[in-house]
Order: sequence, then structure tokens, then C-alpha cells
Amino acid sequence: DERMVTGELQNEDSTVELSLRPVNLNQYIGQQKVKENLSIFIQAARMREEPLDHVLLYGPPGLGKTTLAAIIANEMGVQFRSTSGPAIERAGDLAAILSSLEPGDVLFIDEVHRLPRAVEEVLYPAMEDFFLDIVIGTGPSARSVRIDLPPFTLVGATTRAGLLSAPLRDRFGVLSRLEFYEAKDLCSIVERTADIFETTITKEAAGEIARRSRGTPRIANRLLKRIRDISQVKGEKEISLKTTDLALEMLQVDDAGLDHIDHKLLKGIIDGFQGGPVGLDTIAATVGEESQTIEDVYEPYLLQIGFIQRTPRGRLVTPKAYQHFGISGNDT
Ligand code: ADP
Repeated sequence: DERMVTGELQNEDSTVELSLRPVNLNQYIGQQKVKENLSIFIQAARMREEPLDHVLLYGPPGLGKTTLAAIIANEMGVQFRSTSGPAIERAGDLAAILSSLEPGDVLFIDEVHRLPRAVEEVLYPAMEDFFLDIVIGTGPSARSVRIDLPPFTLVGATTRAGLLSAPLRDRFGVLSRLEFYEAKDLCSIVERTADIFETTITKEAAGEIARRSRGTPRIANRLLKRIRDISQVKGEKEISLKTTDLALEMLQVDDAGLDHIDHKLLKGIIDGFQGGPVGLDTIAATVGEESQTIEDVYEPYLLQIGFIQRTPRGRLVTPKAYQHFGISGNDT
């Protein structure tokens, strides 16, 4: 069963996408605290010639968890192997992956909170003491076999640390939370990506993309790609602010960087529930998205910019959001 034994990155990563990924810590823009910590832990592990402790990276999608995991492997001078929680269906799948690792390798498990419980239990002794306890056969002939593993580093990624079971979370030595990027860091990311695309972009245009990318490199890169198409068709020799504004309007990205789903969510609460408070599940039903998608993908940024608030009775749209839409009301 080969499908999850992937030495390469999976899914959305086209060749272009891969070339956008920084390969060492110095090229990884922003996330200063996370970088400083990791850099010390990596240096220490290298000095001791030991594998790095297991690392849990958490934060909203698109902030650079996968990228950072690959950088960790690169900085440690080991192989990077990548898979995801839902791809590992049975304990045997995990056993196959783990026993194929070279000493010191980094195994990256994206969506690590979605590992099946039975697989998770196999992972505990593997993480702690580098062995597997596998039960072979069933009924009276069943026996347990111990398989020693090469020492390895597990890098897990998840949107929220709280999604992990406590025993799994406790087995990570390093917990790093990725934050939304500041506009100046996103601006550098946009300029770096433009460089890789061999396109020129004005400082103002790069700043505008940065400001309207929800603090998220993946979104900044995606917007830059579309804007570059439009700029190219218009025959511009460098991407201008004017084209950027026009393109963002076409892409339905508003002045605060909110997209049509953010609008649906906020307007849904404003129009349907007088601004709330309203429960997450009700919002999810109104918007037509899963509760967890709302909580992990849309809500964090809206909370960050202070457009919604979490209260014990549900989500509340703030006066700031009302102002953004140019409507008065809910000044309570
Ligand atoms: P996640 O795994 O958190 O969903 P990724 O690692 O896939 O996020 O990052 C999404 C995209 O953003 C990647 O294409 C990567 O090139 C870019 N990116 C993320 N973080 C950074 C960073 N700190 N500096 C430069 N580019 C970044």
C-alpha cells in the first residue's frame, strides 16, 4: 500500500507552488518568535547529533506550516517525508511509513488531529521510545510483535492545538503557534514571489496585496498570481496599484481583504440575527459551510481584526464590522 508513503509533498503543490517555498529558516519571512526558538532547538540537536524533538505547528491554513516542516528537515540535514492524518487509515499503514524512515528523518503529518484513534495509539510508543507494538493475527493466535524504529522527528500540523487529544499533544516537545502575518512581512513575501515569477511590481501594489490578504501568505501568493494575469493582459510592464485595485475588485476581495464568504458570514449574522450573539452551528447552516471550516478558516481572521467577538452565548458582530459595511446599529 504505497499511497501514503509519500516522500514528496502532496496535493495542491504544483511545481510552481513548490518553487515558492523558502528552503531555509533565513528565507522564511516573519514568525520571528517561532523561528528564533526553532533555530536554537535545531542547533542544539545538531550539536548533540540527535534528532530534533517532535514539533507541533498549529494555526490557520496557509500560514506556512508545511513550508516550515520542510525547512526543519532541510536545516537538520535529513529527509522530509510527508503524509496526512486522514491518509493513514490503519495501524499497519503507519507502521509501514515509520519503518521506512532513515535515522533522524522528519515525518510530517498534516491534519494530525484527524489520525484515527487506533493509529494514534500506535504512534505513542513510536514517538516516545521509537518502537512499535503491532498485534499480528486475531483470536487465540494473536500475538504482539515489537519492532524497533530509527529515531525520527514527527512534525505535526493542525489548525488548533485543542483539536488534538491530550495524550498526543503531550508527546510533542515543541509547540509552535503560527500567527497571521503583519502587512510588512506579507509585502516581502509578495515581492519575493514576484521575483520568482520574474515580474516587477510597484511597492504600492505589493503593499496593497499584503494589506488585503487576510494575513496569509497562501492568499497573498494566490492573489498575486491572478493580478499578474490581468496586468499582463493589459500589457503593463510592472504591476500597478491601479490594476491591483481593479483585479481585487474583480476577485471580490474588499478593502479590508474580506471575500464573499466573509461577507456572507457577517451579513448573515447582521441581517438574520440582529448582529448576534448566535451559535456557530446556526451560522454554519446560514452560510452553508461546515462549522469546523468556519471556526478554523474564516473566523480566526475576523476575530483578529475585531469584526466578530466570541461570547458565551455565541458570535457577535462588532460595531467595527457594522462600520465597515456602512450600516449603523448594534452599538450595544
Ligand atoms: P500551511 O501548511 O500552514 O497551510 P503552507 O506551508 O502550505 O501553509 O504555505 C502556503 C504558501 O505560502 C506556500 O506556497 C509558501 O510558499 C508560502 N509561505 C508560507 N509561509 C511563508 C513564509 N514565512 N515566507 C515565504 N513564503 C511563505
